[in-house]
This record gives sequence, structure tokens and C-alpha cells, in this order.
Amino acid sequence: MTTLFQNYARRSVHLVKGRGTVVTDDKGKEYLDFISGIAVVSLGHAHPALVEAVKQQSEKLWHVSNLFESPEQELLAAKLIKDTPFSHAFFCNSGAEANEAAIKLARKHTQKNVIITFEQSFHGRTFGAMSATGQAKVREGFGPLLETFRIIPYNDEQQLEAAIDGDVAAIMLEVIQGEGGVNQIDPDFAQKITDICKSKGILLIVDEVQTGIGRTGTRYAYEQTNLEPDIITLAKGLGGGFPIGAMLGSSELLPSFGPGTHGTTFGGNPLAVAVAQTVVDIVFKKKFLQEVEDKSTYLIEKVQALLPQDQFSIRGAGLLLGIECEEEILPFIQQAEQAGLLLVQAGPNVIRLLPPLTVTYEEIDQAVDILSAVLLPEKTAIT
Ligand SMILES: *Cc1c(COP(=O)(O)O)cnc(C)c1O
Repeated sequence: MTTLFQNYARRSVHLVKGRGTVVTDDKGKEYLDFISGIAVVSLGHAHPALVEAVKQQSEKLWHVSNLFESPEQELLAAKLIKDTPFSHAFFCNSGAEANEAAIKLARKHTQKNVIITFEQSFHGRTFGAMSATGQAKVREGFGPLLETFRIIPYNDEQQLEAAIDGDVAAIMLEVIQGEGGVNQIDPDFAQKITDICKSKGILLIVDEVQTGIGRTGTRYAYEQTNLEPDIITLAKGLGGGFPIGAMLGSSELLPSFGPGTHGTTFGGNPLAVAVAQTVVDIVFKKKFLQEVEDKSTYLIEKVQALLPQDQFSIRGAGLLLGIECEEEILPFIQQAEQAGLLLVQAGPNVIRLLPPLTVTYEEIDQAVDILSAVLLPEKTAIT
């Protein structure tokens, strides 16, 4: 019996507590969390600095309306836009909401209607974000969706050129399609997008909801590409487990988002902002980001050493990695869970690895050992 709508295919494990990379279920069994709430719990579970931030802010002020000034939001915005092309931030509660803000801003600013998005993309579940998403399984069953989105193949320069006309307001994309299979943008395609956006006055929106806040080894994933976004959207890792989303934009957009154009009751709530400030202070340090990069290299080399590369190819950046397998991977994910490793898929045959950015080398060793035992049972039985 359940009193919940069955819109999630829930696993039977009931997790009750966590510390760092390790989570514990109601029977006391421990797991290495290589899902991190889908790239959310970037500093691991119950990080002392985040616990302290919640404690302190919860005794001061939980919520005020955006009717009032917010020096706290100003400070978080300043941390996020420092040394970027962006000059302003808008805060909301989730990735889909951040994308809704971006869609509305792009439409209003350009006074054009079309936004180009890509097959296998994922932008969220609200009506606008769902319409932007290039995956049939997300879109099916809801009747006609918004026609504003022109969905074309990813990394296909010819189709991109063919899709451009005078009514295109923006191009919206992920640098790495996280949900869609850990598909990376091709450098030539990124350059093409930049050229087209510049020459035609088209806005570029980069959805960094999954890739942002250090997940790929830089503050934002676009920093590793030739893309020159006008807008980026953030959520998942930004609050380290506390719900918050954000849209960052360049100064020319400011006049298009004046008083009354957009808003949300909870967006930039003091509790969420206090936690996000702490997350950003920790993650945006050079040394921290370098460690993400180092752990990524270590994890990739370890996987390549243990798993035959013709059967299991690993891709992605930082600690947003995918192992493409020849077979359906759901059974492997279930076996890994039994063996104490939590994993999530990205499409039917890609295992996604999303450990907390604070994962230790020892935990990476343990996780890859479990992974290879599950994926290559014969090999483990022999040795
Ligand atoms: C998860 C995700 C979203 C949606 O975020 P929600 O917080 O679930 O609304 C949007 N874009 C990308 C790239 C995501 O990974």
C-alpha cells in the first residue's frame, strides 16, 4: 500500500542517514553513495560546514519575501559571477525553474519565439522545460507541447545551420548531457554555436544544472569549452542538498527582467542562500577543483585498468562520468546496490558515476572494485 503517486520507480532501500560518501539504510547496511542525490550532495552527506550554516541561519531568519532587500542574495550572486561574463543572478528553487526563467528572459529580451534545443537533452519536468527536453520518454502522453522549441540532433553542425532563421531567440544546451547518456559536446560544434550566436545575435543558454558548481572539475563546465553563454542555469549541486536554483546572465539582459516580469515566493530564501554560500566558498577554491580533476583522472584510469575498454568505455568530465556498456545495465545496478554501491543509469546502457566531490581515493578504490566484480563476475571468480 502506498499513499504516494507512483511517478517514480522507487528502489526498496530506505536510507536514513549519511556521512560523507557513506549512507546507511534502516537496517544498518552501509552503501557508498555514487549517486549523490543525482549530483546534488556534492560535499557529501552532513558536511560539518553545511550543518553549521543551517544551524546558524535557522536561529536567525528562515524566510522573508523578495519584497525586501537581500544582501545575502547579493553576496551569493557576487560569488557566483566573479570572473565570469555574467553580471546578475536570479534565484529560484530547482533546475526546471532556473530554465523557465532563462526561457522567459530569452523570449522577452529578443522578442523572438524559437529556442533551439537538442535530442537526448534534459531540462526538467515543468511544462516549458519538458517541451525543451529532447527525450520522448519525458514528453509522451501530455498532448501537444510548446512549439517554441526546435529540437535537433546534438553535435550536428549541418542540422544546426539548417535550423537557424530570423525567429531564433536562443540556443539552449548542456555541455555534457547528464540524463541523456553522459554525451559531451564536440569542440567543433561548440565553436560553431559560438560563431552562429555571435553573427546572428542569438542568445546562448547553457544548462549547467548538473554540470555546474565544480561537478566537472571547473566552476562551470562551459569554462572547458569555446562556448560563450549569455545565460547559465544552476541548481543540483548549488545547495549541497538544500533546494536552490539560479540563473546567471550578462548585463545587456538586465532591462528585460524588470520589476513584475518574473518571480517566485521561495527563491533565494535565507536558509537556502546561507547553505549555498558555504558550498560555493568551499567548491570554488582552486585546490578543491584541482582535487576533483585529480580524482577524476584516478577514477578513469582505475576503471580502464580493471574493465576491458572494448566492452566498457568511460567518458565525461570531472566527477560526472559514464561507463557505456554493451548490455542493459539495470541488473548490474541492482547487484551493485546489494554489494553496497549506489549507482544510477543515464539511458539504458550507461552507468553514471556521480560521487560526492569530496569522495576519497580509498572510496573510489572500493567502488571500482565492486563495479568490476559486478560487471565481470568470471574474472573476479578466477582471481
Ligand atoms: C536535473 C536537471 C534539470 C532539472 O532540475 P530539477 O531540479 O529536477 O527541476 C534540468 N537540467 C539538467 C541538465 C538536469 O540535469
